[in-house]
Amino acid sequence: MKVHLKALGCRLNEAELEQWSQQFRAAGHEIVPNVPDADVLVLNTCAVTNDASGKSRRLMHRMYRENPEARLVVSGCYATLQAKEVADAIGVDLVVPNAEKDQLPQQVMQAFALPVMPAMATEPGETPLFLRGRQRAFIKIQDGCRYRCTFCIVTVARGDERSRTEAEIIAEINTLHQQGIQEIVLTGVHVGGYGSDIGTSLYALVQAVLRETDMPRIRFASVEPWDLPDGFFALFSNPRLMPHMHLPLQSGADSVLRRMARRCKTSEFSELLVQARQNIPGFNVTTDIIVGFPGETEHEWEQSLAYLESVGFGHIHIFSYSAREGTKAAGLPDPVPELVKKQRSQALHLLAERLKHDWLQQQVGKTVPVLWEYGRQETDGQKVYTGYTPNYCKVMVSVSDNKHLENVIAQATLQGVAADGGMLCGSLEG
Ligand code: SF4
Repeated sequence: MKVHLKALGCRLNEAELEQWSQQFRAAGHEIVPNVPDADVLVLNTCAVTNDASGKSRRLMHRMYRENPEARLVVSGCYATLQAKEVADAIGVDLVVPNAEKDQLPQQVMQAFALPVMPAMATEPGETPLFLRGRQRAFIKIQDGCRYRCTFCIVTVARGDERSRTEAEIIAEINTLHQQGIQEIVLTGVHVGGYGSDIGTSLYALVQAVLRETDMPRIRFASVEPWDLPDGFFALFSNPRLMPHMHLPLQSGADSVLRRMARRCKTSEFSELLVQARQNIPGFNVTTDIIVGFPGETEHEWEQSLAYLESVGFGHIHIFSYSAREGTKAAGLPDPVPELVKKQRSQALHLLAERLKHDWLQQQVGKTVPVLWEYGRQETDGQKVYTGYTPNYCKVMVSVSDNKHLENVIAQATLQGVAADGGMLCGSLEG
């Protein structure tokens, strides 16, 4: 059978897609990149905002229109929150809610009586990730979250915390390494809560991954800035653990953080950064900030900006608050006018650009191993490749076009900040 897999939204949805593709291939089915070529279409939806739900709905309809003969399977947060609406939609043959998505391939093979042909299973060979132009693999380590941040629908859609076993995770990482992957990203809803339901911890898992796999580069996806085990940053003394963490702060004003029901005050966030930066030279911290949360006063906004400036981030993802049906924050008073939200977002973009430029400038002169990913042909017989440094700074090099760098880890000297201020220019060593 030919199976086409598509995910919207977060890295966890992407990680689940990779898990499913491994399971379908192990059962002898083929993963195909294009909708019209498939017998079965699988869509992993997102519902983090109303816009995301709309996008999921439109893509679901478009996949059906592009291939009405194929079986259409819909999973993910939108399919979980609007299960009836999705099940009643034209062309949908199967809805798999988040709680059952780890068994999605089995459910699909049962529901459509697809044969299981391990004999046909393709040798590990190359991972389908390369088919999709990807050199980095997202690894789902846990799902769900025990917290109830007032703006968050994910905790509603994904349910309680449940961790995969270390053995499962290690096996998946070793398979991907055999298939040529050199970098993985440990992903979940509440990564810091890993193991809380199976008597282990994120610390123990990382130790096991470092001990029982040879994966050259290991990263974390977004990690809430609390529940990190004691001594966590000592793990980064191992050079295979990349010195970067994305720690969503969401606001730089404690009174706003309280209304968000966040478990981390600005003082605690600062302590975490001191620990990280003291232990690990060049440790990069990136974050998420929600602009215009209900009730955000001018004073709170100024406080937030001042705090963000004092911390210094390698990158800030900026989200303009939009009320999400089904969350507590959607019922909070004093919504911030759209014009004010826009002005604050613009001010934060300017600050974020300056902080990023300062951060990239600090990298200039270093020689570091980069995992090169994408190559683009230039007119003058040169090729430009981009990739990421260990501390997650994007860098580009120009090489002669007979040099192939896709999925190669090679040293580069960082020579300057590119004109757009968003990445570094480097030169290849050796
Ligand atoms: S910790 Fe993260 S996933 Fe959990 S409720 Fe808060 S924002 Fe949502």
